[in-house]
Amino acid sequence: MTPAPGKIVCVGRNYADHAAELGSDVPAEPLIFLKPPSAVIAAGDPIRVPPDAGRVDYEGEIGLVVGSRCSRVSEDEAWSHIGGVVALNDVTARDLQNADGQWTRAKGIDTFCPVGNVVDASAVLPERLAVTTTVNGEVRQHAEASRMVFSPRHLVSFISHVMTLEAGDLIATGTPEGVGPVSPGDVVEVTLSCGSAVRNPVEGGETLAPAG
Ligand code: MG
Repeated sequence: MTPAPGKIVCVGRNYADHAAELGSDVPAEPLIFLKPPSAVIAAGDPIRVPPDAGRVDYEGEIGLVVGSRCSRVSEDEAWSHIGGVVALNDVTARDLQNADGQWTRAKGIDTFCPVGNVVDASAVLPERLAVTTTVNGEVRQHAEASRMVFSPRHLVSFISHVMTLEAGDLIATGTPEGVGPVSPGDVVEVTLSCGSAVRNPVEGGETLAPAG
């Protein structure tokens, strides 16, 4: 079943090597943005790349599913409010991201948020998680959560001091170095060490430009 989060809170530049590969600095505080729930697809569903979107990149990430409503929780309490861990692909239209400054269009296109099977968070030590991304079976990204600038527990606490997190909300904790473009015909898979995975074919999509 495709998850239906109320909101998807994403974290940008949370691995130093990824910030560097895009020519960006690591932020002093977590840099957060939203992806719309309408972007979510499940394993096996196609990522549809609009012909006029320019370069479209995979971003393999460790995703967290909020288990219980929380607001202003401490770092120590944070993990008790996370119900699940999921492989997540924060698909990004890189040229549109750079052109717009704001990231909503680049990150919000339909099908641009593949989400994998949910693994019970109580069985997971977040600091020990690792994420791997392959394209057509070839490894492109691999990193452990211990290399994040801000840890999963810190992110949950930080975000909960900005907005109330509701059960079912998703948090995408940022992508490590190794991002790159995909094209129709490719198959992208994001796998977590805890056993969640999401594998999706890439297909052509509808144009972003309105007719007329
Ligand atoms: Mg991302």
